[in-house]
Amino acid sequence: MVGSQDWRLFGQEKYLFGATLVHRDYTRDQVVDSRWEDDHCEFCGTEFMRDNFPDVLHDGYATLNGLHWICTDCFNDFKPMFRWTVTEEPAPGAP
Ligand SMILES: [Zn+2]
Repeated sequence: MVGSQDWRLFGQEKYLFGATLVHRDYTRDQVVDSRWEDDHCEFCGTEFMRDNFPDVLHDGYATLNGLHWICTDCFNDFKPMFRWTVTEEPAPGAP
């Protein structure tokens, strides 16, 4: 059971509490932001990459704007605390 003193918590509830998340493959293609960087899990810092390196993740839970990514382990650990809603990935071209 994860408590509020978990080492992975440092204020994410400000922007992730009650968020709607989509489980999907990691890609930067859909991101509007012009930066091209790797993303890390918002909680444990595990890296998301498209390339096939060891110890990187290729899918996870993302916010609808694709700016925040959460790995499956942290998703499962913090879901009760953050009360996330999981939705299906929007169809291409949907608003
Ligand atoms: Zn994580």
